[in-house]
Amino acid sequence: MRQDIDYILIGEDQIKQRVAELAAEISADYRDLGDLLLVGVLKGCAMFMVDLARAIDLPLAIDFIAVASYGASTESSGVVRLIKDLDTDISQRHVLIVEDIIDSGLTLAYLRSQLLRRNPASLRICTLLNKPERRTADVPVDYIGFDIPNAFVVGYGLDYAERYRNLPFIGVLRPEVYQSA
Ligand code: 5GP
Ligand code: MG
Ligand code: MG
Repeated sequence: MRQDIDYILIGEDQIKQRVAELAAEISADYRDLGDLLLVGVLKGCAMFMVDLARAIDLPLAIDFIAVASYGASTESSGVVRLIKDLDTDISQRHVLIVEDIIDSGLTLAYLRSQLLRRNPASLRICTLLNKPERRTADVPVDYIGFDIPNAFVVGYGLDYAERYRNLPFIGVLRPEVYQSA
């Protein structure tokens, strides 16, 4: 698995430290609201979601939503589909979407518009990774772990063809791996 990684972009300790910082920021921002619902976007959010939730020093609820946009490719099709909806009624709740990565922004723009229709008290977005160069959809992002360059990354929840999610770091995949697929 590691032989498919070109280089490590963000190491385990760096992730840990940044997740703690984000959690502290979120804890301070939501302290007085008395309500926080984390909505993780499956499956990429999995590692980030559990680490972030454990580091937030507030009572909170968690739920998950799943969308499809990429399939096994490394480029967004621009078509987003809801695969699994929330179990929670988010009306009048303070909702924080938790994403692994924002690339074109199409996935989040779609999700955001869908969730806003349900009248949450507030709706913010937290992403571990952000690729600012690739943005085509205008979507406000409130919490960003790391801005990264335009490379296809895997690990810490992020996959290529469902693999590499369990790597403890964020790494750049060797292009041969997806070019030969
Ligand atoms: P967007 O709709 O913003 O273009 O893409 C969002 C989704 O595409 C992410 O949630 C993620 O699932 C996938 N994605 C975008 N860039 C990468 C990347 O560099 N690596 C991986 N593994 N997935 C990515
Ligand atoms: Mg995602
Ligand atoms: Mg994926």
